[in-house]
Amino acid sequence: MKIAFLRTRFIGYILILAVLSWLFFNFLITTQSSIMHRYFIEKPTSYNLERAERLAGSIYKSFMVEVKDPSLENIRSFVEKYDDLPFISVNFIYQDELGSMQSILRSVDGIDILSAEYVYPVSSDTLRSGTLLVYDINKEYERGLAEYNQMMNVTRFFFGTILFLLTSLLVYREYGTKIAEEKRRAEYHAVHDGLTGLFTQKYFKQHLEREISRSKRYKRPLSLIMCDVDHFKNFNDTYGHLAGDKVLKTVAGIILANVRSSDIVSRYGGEEFAILLVESGVEEVRSVSRRLKTLTEEAVEIASRIKGEIERHEIMVNHSRVRITMSMGISYYDGDEDYKPEYLITTSDSALYNSKNSGRNMITLYHPETKEFENLTA
Ligand code: GH3
Ligand code: MG
Ligand code: MG
Repeated sequence: MKIAFLRTRFIGYILILAVLSWLFFNFLITTQSSIMHRYFIEKPTSYNLERAERLAGSIYKSFMVEVKDPSLENIRSFVEKYDDLPFISVNFIYQDELGSMQSILRSVDGIDILSAEYVYPVSSDTLRSGTLLVYDINKEYERGLAEYNQMMNVTRFFFGTILFLLTSLLVYREYGTKIAEEKRRAEYHAVHDGLTGLFTQKYFKQHLEREISRSKRYKRPLSLIMCDVDHFKNFNDTYGHLAGDKVLKTVAGIILANVRSSDIVSRYGGEEFAILLVESGVEEVRSVSRRLKTLTEEAVEIASRIKGEIERHEIMVNHSRVRITMSMGISYYDGDEDYKPEYLITTSDSALYNSKNSGRNMITLYHPETKEFENLTA
């Protein structure tokens, strides 16, 4: 199971891609976070707490000097002037005539009064009460970064989940497809011969059984042609097994090219082939004997064509042209009741051996009614 899983190359690619995406994503987030930290949180060498405190103190002093008459307009222009300093931000809050809190820069709700690092109370005749707030921007950024990291963790979790789901889906789909593909291949090999692609003997026998019972029901004639390559052992001994395999493939091709699509061609044994011919088309109007005669004639015609083509065919073996021949035996079944499928095989086999005994490269037709062999090429 594990090996089969790893054998799927596409799944390997998906997993590698997922891991690389995850590493790259984390690299981006971590880099971004450290850049933010370096630029906003880590104080530059010139910055220290006393300096910030001194700066805040001098801002307050300037306020006292510059805003002698603390009208709101004057205070606003002062705050705006000092709000932009590096690392330091300024605001001013006061109570209005109605006694509620107001802020110069932001709405009172939008500012965090307690987070101000330096607080200077300002009192005057025109203001009921006011406070100059000086913020250490670094501290604010620190809070911002914590929020940013929190958000990044959520993003990381979200991205990871999506990546995991996507990878699982792709792996599942690919693995499912591979399993289906392997199943299909196994099914194919169970019924097809690996060398010629023809049906196996096992499938052929199952099919024959089905066809015989169907023939019994519908009184439909069947015909079987058994073929065997002549002196094939000699051929193998002379030219080698690979050349022999080439012959088998060639013979299979010639047989397939000469049968009808409804016929079943099987590699019955080593160099033996079986062709089952089923009556094609609807012929119910004619009598069974007439239909059988037609089918038998068709079988003989097909066998003759195959035999002729094989003996004429030149096979290239080690740069020389070689010819082979094939013996054939034909038998038929007319839809009679007490009939066993094996009988069709044994009778056509007997016809085949009749051809062999009569000198090979021949076609013999067996007549079940008279139990006679008719040599068609003698
Ligand atoms: P006959 O004319 O009486 O049929 O003689 P033969 O030599 O063809 O028959 P025999 O049964 O003695 O030999 C069959 C040979 O077929 C023997 C075996 O090596 C060969 N054979 C069977 N299967 C294969 C195959 O898949 N590839 C090859 N190259 N040869 C095969
Ligand atoms: Mg043979
Ligand atoms: Mg044989």
